[in-house]
Amino acid sequence: MRRMKILSSKFIKGIVQDDKVMDDGTPQVAFIGRSNVGKSSLINALTKSKVSRTSSTAGRTQEINFFLINDAFYFVDLPGYGFAKISDEKKGKLSNLMSSYLFNDVYTQKNVVLIVDCNVGMTDKDIEMFENLRSHNKNIVIALSKKDKATQAILHKTLSQVKGIVGSAYPIFPISSTKGAGIDELVAFLLS
Ligand code: GDP
Repeated sequence: MRRMKILSSKFIKGIVQDDKVMDDGTPQVAFIGRSNVGKSSLINALTKSKVSRTSSTAGRTQEINFFLINDAFYFVDLPGYGFAKISDEKKGKLSNLMSSYLFNDVYTQKNVVLIVDCNVGMTDKDIEMFENLRSHNKNIVIALSKKDKATQAILHKTLSQVKGIVGSAYPIFPISSTKGAGIDELVAFLLS
């Protein structure tokens, strides 16, 4: 993963149950956040591509999607929590799959990027996810999305809230997928 730029990105597969891709020896960087937080836009911005469709596209949001980056590692797009329009049965299956991928120790990630909307701050669900990730010793990276929509005052308020919750052990990257702010810094961190 030494290359500091993303030169290629390719959709590999979307999975709905445990699959060998989760543990095939390829290093993995996972992305998670509530629905609509800007996860697909962030993956597209990082890869300078359209590999990750936006949430308006049905189907993909109900799977764990694997993208091969630089022919060397995976970006793993986890379903947004809040999965609004799907049945309880599917929700249950998805939650189990996500828990299995994130919290079963046979599956490991180089980093887990927890995306939090700059303009909203950490919600109870974000805090719960953070605590779960922390208790499993994940290398958590916080991405604060939609920075372009936030005033300096809001950004400052969210930064204080997040630092108050996560402390100083995890890197925090304010980013804007639409304007590009913070994207190169996050890529460099994830590829280093
Ligand atoms: P996902 O559900 O987490 O994958 O979210 P999407 O990437 O589909 O984005 C949800 C909405 O937020 C869409 O309307 C995007 O256009 C918008 N959005 C995503 N990233 C940004 C950003 O950096 N700035 C602004 N202003 N809007 C964004």
